[in-house]
Amino acid sequence: MAEGAAASGPLPVVPFLKIPAGGDPYLEGQQCRNCGKIFLGERTTCSNCGESGRFEARSLAKTGTLYVYSIVHRSFPGIEVPYVSCIVDLDGGGTVKGNLIGVDPVPEKITMGMPVEVVFKKAPKRDAEGNEYLTYYFQPRS
Ligand SMILES: [Zn+2]
Repeated sequence: MAEGAAASGPLPVVPFLKIPAGGDPYLEGQQCRNCGKIFLGERTTCSNCGESGRFEARSLAKTGTLYVYSIVHRSFPGIEVPYVSCIVDLDGGGTVKGNLIGVDPVPEKITMGMPVEVVFKKAPKRDAEGNEYLTYYFQPRS
């Protein structure tokens, strides 16, 4: 890639979002080989059992349940509000923070424990070099 040129495809917005060549994107967790607990992002020690240096990358489920949420009415300039910030427990392990879309941002429409799924979309804005980013959201699952 030439210096200053934009990447040909979207880049992952976070390191734990993986975009395999020719495959579907997925979220990747690090699973402790001692206790099985799954975390997002690289770490050296398991906060569940204290084991060090024994993690294995795992592809995480695209389904889960809403653990908690917050309706955001004030944010950085340029960020459209209101939106729903949430934490989701993925099926099979992994707890992920993200935004809930596809639902009105009002408490009457959102239930703790509701089934959700991971969806991947291009981020609304490019960076200063013109790169596109792929990001993830959660949406209600019927
Ligand atoms: Zn562990």
